Amino acid sequence: MSSYDVAIIGSGPGGYVAAIRCAQLGMKTAIIEKYSTLGGTCLNVGCIPSKALLDSSHHYEDAIKHFEDHGIDVGEVSLNLEKMISRKQGVVDMTTKGIEFLMDKNKIDVYQGVGSFKDATHIDIAGEKNVTIEAKNTIIATGSKPSTLPFITLDKERIITSTEALKLPEVPKHMIVIGGGVIGLELGQVYKRLGAEVTVVEYMDRIIPTMDGAQSKELLKVFKKQKMKFALSHGVTAVERNGDEVTVKATDKKGHDVEFKGDYVLVAVGRRAYTDGLNLDAVGIKTDDRGRVEVNAHLQTNVSNIYAIGDVIKGAMLAHKAEEEGTLVAEIMAGQKPHIDYNLIPGVVYTWPEVASVGKTEEQLKEAGVEYKSGQFPMRALGRSRASGDTDGFVKILADKTTDEVLGVHMVGARVADLIAEAVTAMEFRASAEDIARMSHAHPTYAEAVKEAALAATADRALHV
Ligand code: FAD
Ligand code: NAD
Repeated sequence: MSSYDVAIIGSGPGGYVAAIRCAQLGMKTAIIEKYSTLGGTCLNVGCIPSKALLDSSHHYEDAIKHFEDHGIDVGEVSLNLEKMISRKQGVVDMTTKGIEFLMDKNKIDVYQGVGSFKDATHIDIAGEKNVTIEAKNTIIATGSKPSTLPFITLDKERIITSTEALKLPEVPKHMIVIGGGVIGLELGQVYKRLGAEVTVVEYMDRIIPTMDGAQSKELLKVFKKQKMKFALSHGVTAVERNGDEVTVKATDKKGHDVEFKGDYVLVAVGRRAYTDGLNLDAVGIKTDDRGRVEVNAHLQTNVSNIYAIGDVIKGAMLAHKAEEEGTLVAEIMAGQKPHIDYNLIPGVVYTWPEVASVGKTEEQLKEAGVEYKSGQFPMRALGRSRASGDTDGFVKILADKTTDEVLGVHMVGARVADLIAEAVTAMEFRASAEDIARMSHAHPTYAEAVKEAALAATADRALHV
């Protein structure tokens, strides 16, 4: 029987990063993955393929709607959906093969099969061959799966999750999206750009409800301009399929029954922690009321040599959060004292305009009774935005009223997914709004909006509005 210092179950961004860090720290490491490709949800059916389709559909929309504004006449533009989907798969394949290379380079043993606990130091792997390995420590990194509503039967043809939406055989005529969160908006925008009518049915009174209210408002305004339809404050009560037609029934905030008819329904109401097949009972590992593995501040379960990271535990379901946790656990096992500031894990929505946030929202500061000041700068006032034609959005900086320390940064606009890194850096070093305001930002760039918002927060002295 092979013996390891550490075994990791699941090869998503949490698991494979944990494996690399463990190997770097000199541990004999094994990783177990039930699918034939490494990389988990993120690389196979999440972050990477969704961004590939967002980029491709953005090019298509630009060719149809915006090239003309730049004086480029391309004649008739047509869509080759099959090629777009196969390009996406090519990007996925290249990326997942990259993880195989990294496992090999770091001398990590890869086992393909379903890992389940035999006891606290032995894992059975059911794959092509059934094997058992021994591990002093184990990291559970088994991720998550799409959630649904109790009355919905996902047929994965017309009533689908994000996984099927990444490889549809045709552009829907009318896609009804249940859930105005990250997946609903990103994939909804892909199909809207490709020519579908898209209606988003959202339970709350705003889209991206966990982000700053100003971002929800701005994104809704832009999406409505792009002719996406929204039914906010609508609780879905039933989903039915009749041949190629689907019907979503909902109740609006006045209690009226409403029906939406289309040809595809994308169910995007969140994801659930995935522990099926792990045989947690064999070792007595505790889960919470939402099925997530319970961990302490060191991400250790109630069984001291077994840790858990990523989507399978509490917290934001984000690839970079899982990665940080993978590194943290490896370093803790090596006797180091690492730390993650969960307040500074940024959140990004890759629609266009993009949406990005870090730290506290205005709603959270109000609720906590923190006295703060706010500085906001519109993208349309930037030379860079006018040059590219991307004038929607803003940067908003929230700072402590007395100390000027930056408490939250919220952005909508072109390339803000990349701009948010400046805010994370500033907040990691506990910068004041004035610190950011006094830094030189290259001209002309979208990043100038960060400086201007900081100037506005510091002393209401933005220069270009
Ligand atoms: P996962 O990536 O889910 O990996 C878990 C792995 O464990 C899987 O490969 C699974 O097969 C394997 N596994 C499970 N049980 C067993 C077992 N018993 N034995 C062996 N293997 C097992 N996040 C971002 O930060 N940015 C984005 O842009 C983004 N876009 C997304 C788009 C979509 C459409 C979706 C669905 C998600 C997106 N996410 C994004 C979320 C991101 O994918 C997850 O937060 C991330 O993958 C979590 O990583 P993880 O390592 O915890 O788990
Ligand atoms: P989400 O939590 O972002 O959004 C779900 C939405 O569905 C919420 O707005 C919620 O109010 C709504 N909802 C819930 N029940 C409903 C009902 N009965 N009727 C109507 N609306 C209802 O979840 P998601 O979009 O499914 O994404 C799942 C996870 O994947 C998220 O946690 C997210 O972090 C991650 N993800 C991240 C990215 C990214 O980082 N860009 C992209 C995709 C997914």
